Amino acid sequence: MKHHIYSIPLAEALEAKCGCILCNLEEKFEEQAVDYFLGASMMEPDAREITNEKGFCRRHLKKMFEKPNKLSLALTLETHVKELEECLEIKKKEGHFSKETTAFLTSEDIYETVRSCALCDKLNSQLNAAAGNISYLWSKNDEFRIMLEKTDDVLCLEHCALAIKMCDGEISSFKKNEYINMLINKQKKSLSKLYENLHNFTLSFDYRNSGKPLSPEEKSSVQTAVKYLGKY
Ligand SMILES: [Zn+2]
Ligand SMILES: [Zn+2]
Repeated sequence: MKHHIYSIPLAEALEAKCGCILCNLEEKFEEQAVDYFLGASMMEPDAREITNEKGFCRRHLKKMFEKPNKLSLALTLETHVKELEECLEIKKKEGHFSKETTAFLTSEDIYETVRSCALCDKLNSQLNAAAGNISYLWSKNDEFRIMLEKTDDVLCLEHCALAIKMCDGEISSFKKNEYINMLINKQKKSLSKLYENLHNFTLSFDYRNSGKPLSPEEKSSVQTAVKYLGKY
């Protein structure tokens, strides 16, 4: 049985009407994860094994470095760097025609090490569960469904895709089509409104429109578009 532990934070984010509900949760999860990797995970051998192997991506290294606790970060990175050093040991393989060994290490091996991030993995698994939780709530909780359907801009494009991807196993296939259509229609509405606001913003640079006031939505349309398309 699936656990729907994100029902309360999702309902709260929806009620707060502050844009994409998953971006909202992601921000909170990320902050909590940064604190976790600089705190509790230090004492958990299983978690240390993961951070030693995966390390952190550029964004999350920066976020962790911005925190005052440099000793925790140093201890975490110390063992990760040691493992990286061992990982970059040139692998040896026996040649086909001789017993001589040839060294090889592909760029993909290195990329794999550089790209992996223990914090992204934790964050993604929480977000996937929360995204699945939305469809569950939509089908089981009338109050949540009505609120979700009547509120504009509840998901950014990327999180709309995630909500669709993660609804499998949460709702019946009959309800699935209705759910996906509802989400896609909301995206179309958001995109059409965004296009109109961006268009009017660009027109305001024409000398023929000088002095013509812009609405607050038109004024902030570039910022809204960057947020909508770029997530962070
Ligand atoms: Zn989002
Ligand atoms: Zn990351």
